[in-house]
Amino acid sequence: MTMQEQSVLVVKVGGGEGNRIEPVLDDLADLWHAGRRWVLVHGGSARTNEVATALGHPPQFITSPSGFTSRRTDRQTALIFTMVYAGEMNKTIVEGLHARGVNAVGLSGADGRVLEGERKKAIRAVVNGRRLIIRDDYTGTITRVNSSLLHLLLNAGYAPVLCPPAISQEHELINVDGDRAAAALAAALSAKTLVLLTGAPGLLRFPDDPASRIATLPLAALDDAMNTYAQGRMRIKLLAAREALEGGVQRVIIAASNAAHPVRQALAGDGTVISRWGRQEEETHEHSATANEHRA
Ligand code: ADP
Repeated sequence: MTMQEQSVLVVKVGGGEGNRIEPVLDDLADLWHAGRRWVLVHGGSARTNEVATALGHPPQFITSPSGFTSRRTDRQTALIFTMVYAGEMNKTIVEGLHARGVNAVGLSGADGRVLEGERKKAIRAVVNGRRLIIRDDYTGTITRVNSSLLHLLLNAGYAPVLCPPAISQEHELINVDGDRAAAALAAALSAKTLVLLTGAPGLLRFPDDPASRIATLPLAALDDAMNTYAQGRMRIKLLAAREALEGGVQRVIIAASNAAHPVRQALAGDGTVISRWGRQEEETHEHSATANEHRA
């Protein structure tokens, strides 16, 4: 299989507590040098919380009536968020990839309108049991991915490193969820596999028990799992997984970023593998080759 024919891999690494970036960069650099092309998406929530607090604008989180939690993003938060994600986080990842011989280009979703979204003009939230409508928020959902810029970079030998914010149709910086952004990118790039690396070893039956990992999950059981096991931010990962699969991605793997070889282990199935069928047999030759390589 030539490099051009092989699908791009999309990997997202979380920015919450318990994530580690270094082993992810080690693995990605090895894959890159072996000819595998990927796009990395990253988060930055824990660092944003620290910086926002230090700047006297501490983070606030809101819960939607359907139970999804998100960062309250007024304009000042959007700017702090951009400083941390597109600044420190993005550039230290780019720095780490250069140190590993990978010519990385860091972009926010606003650059080249890679991630275009719709700003929510009014968001419904439940705060202390009361339903509120918030109108000055800068969050949104992705409506379009400019994959041509990413192909341009990949074809020229650059490794794209992407993060929120996205850009709205009215040209405002908007906070979009990183997992859902990675899902939209994976679908737009016709990726076969999306890897979501996080602080947990996968979807757990009991969030405090790492041994309770659910190894495989069919798309049909996703809603059930979302309501039964997943809490907080893990629910959004499952939502992202569904969006990716519905967008044509073959499998989404939720796995630990703090493993020895996080990407290779995830590709070998060490995590929660979510697919239309919920079985490993549906994997293409490309995937099993990666798995064997890891086991060897
Ligand atoms: P990110 O790594 O992308 O920053 P988050 O920290 O925001 O991700 O979300 C992942 C977190 O969700 C896990 O670290 C864990 O604390 C929590 N979580 C809630 N329910 C579950 C579950 N059932 N299985 C695994 N993790 C869960």
